[in-house]
Amino acid sequence: MKPAPFTYHRPASVAEAVQLLHALEDAKVLAGGQSLLPIMNMRLAEPSHLVDITGIAELRTPAVDDAGARYGSATTHMMVEDQLVPDVTDGLLPHAAAGIGYRAVRTRGTVGGSLAHSDSSAEWPTVMSALDAAVLAVSTRGQRRIPVRELLIGFFSTTLDVDELIVAVEVPRLSPDTTWGMYKMARKPGEFAESLAVALRRPDGDELWLGAARDTPVRLRHTETVIADRPAPETTVADLVDAVGADTGSEGHSRQLHAVATLRALRAAEREASHA
Ligand SMILES: Cc1cc2nc3c(=O)[nH]c(=O)nc-3n(C[C@H](O)[C@H](O)[C@H](O)COP(=O)(O)OP(=O)(O)OC[C@H]3O[C@@H](n4cnc5c(N)ncnc54)[C@H](O)[C@@H]3O)c2cc1C
Repeated sequence: MKPAPFTYHRPASVAEAVQLLHALEDAKVLAGGQSLLPIMNMRLAEPSHLVDITGIAELRTPAVDDAGARYGSATTHMMVEDQLVPDVTDGLLPHAAAGIGYRAVRTRGTVGGSLAHSDSSAEWPTVMSALDAAVLAVSTRGQRRIPVRELLIGFFSTTLDVDELIVAVEVPRLSPDTTWGMYKMARKPGEFAESLAVALRRPDGDELWLGAARDTPVRLRHTETVIADRPAPETTVADLVDAVGADTGSEGHSRQLHAVATLRALRAAEREASHA
């Protein structure tokens, strides 16, 4: 299968990329191409112009301070996995990156591309929602900061304007009193999640997020209430199914799957806490 004809552009700066996105009719940003190109090959998208951002060095440059880290949007999953960029999450980001697809996918796919694509069964939407990360989006109208929780509004749907470029992802530093656990349930390594749970364990309570259950990552508020005064080792799947069902609207097999993933993430966070 081959894509419909398009014109290829390779800007050398953010300013140039933003000008192209503003001036060109029906243009799309090309980052790692790991989601966009298969869609184009299947003719589900037929953009007239591709604006390849992988030649823009500043989009791969990290910055870190006491508050957290800022990753250029074209930072690849591999760069996070191999810790070629600083980690401010006590290992959660590298762990999440290592679970994405195959190594070949991780060497090309980017953090910004995954967020812009907004597939709730992908790693970054759920992990970045749990961490309360934000993207910086630039257009000819200026720059705006969008929390990931507000960016993702549906399956393949975000609050980005068509001419906006995500230039960076800001991740707050994980507090030293917080431990994390993550569990990806997939049919086999290299596949998208059937369920993807992230647990953040803090002294004032647990925060739970789940991907692959709804169109966007969902915070499990009912489930958080159920586990509030219950140590994770004593919690069973049966304790969680109803609450996870209420949080996600899932039923039957998928509700069971999400409850198991959630419990495994909770237990992983509990183990981390006991090592701290
Ligand atoms: C075999 C295979 C297995 C995979 N398995 C997984 C998996 O297990 N978990 C997972 O999370 N992902 C998985 N992926 C997807 C992969 O992680 C992609 O890299 C990711 O979803 C998209 O990132 P990209 O950089 O390739 O974006 P692209 O494909 O280049 O772009 C995706 C979309 O985002 C837009 N976009 C890209 N960058 C920007 C930007 N900076 N600003 C604005 N818009 C932008 C594009 O215009 C396009 O609409 C898999 C992919 C493949 C091919």
